[in-house]
Amino acid sequence: MKNTESSNQCSNSARDWMKEALAIAGQASIDVPVGCVIIKDGKVIAAAHNRREEDKDPVGHAEILAIREAARAMDSWRLDDCTLFTTLEPCPMCAEAIIQTRIAALYYGAYDLKSGACGSAFNLFKQGRIYPVPDVIGGIEEEECQRILTRYFEANVRSNSNNLKQHPLPPDES
Ligand SMILES: [Zn+2]
Repeated sequence: MKNTESSNQCSNSARDWMKEALAIAGQASIDVPVGCVIIKDGKVIAAAHNRREEDKDPVGHAEILAIREAARAMDSWRLDDCTLFTTLEPCPMCAEAIIQTRIAALYYGAYDLKSGACGSAFNLFKQGRIYPVPDVIGGIEEEECQRILTRYFEANVRSNSNNLKQHPLPPDES
């Protein structure tokens, strides 16, 4: 299964699924546009975008919401044989949640150099943990995944700076 032909097929369909995740990300109204879809047997069983602002939910990241929806669909906390696509490299919270589901493979789009937990800022996916870790493949449709984030932050730069004034970081944080 590791020959060139099958890996090409795999990456083609990975790009298609990432486009689905991008479409979901685009449905975010006030939140940072991150989208996630979970696939089982060639079908989307869960899809969510980031809803932290919309739901006033501190853990309302796309991956967490999609995982919960997938678990309901599977009637199980175990998501073996599922594949998760998310437009942004998961943060540590979502990365650990993904590992806990026993999901088989994780594909992400843009790299998150500040918070990404697939190797950019942290790496929770090291082999040899007590749990098996999924296969992790980053950089799928990276440009478009990054573009929607850049567009969002450019449009929200003023309100973001207002938020920082209202909620200043401790002096030792940057
Ligand atoms: Zn997250």
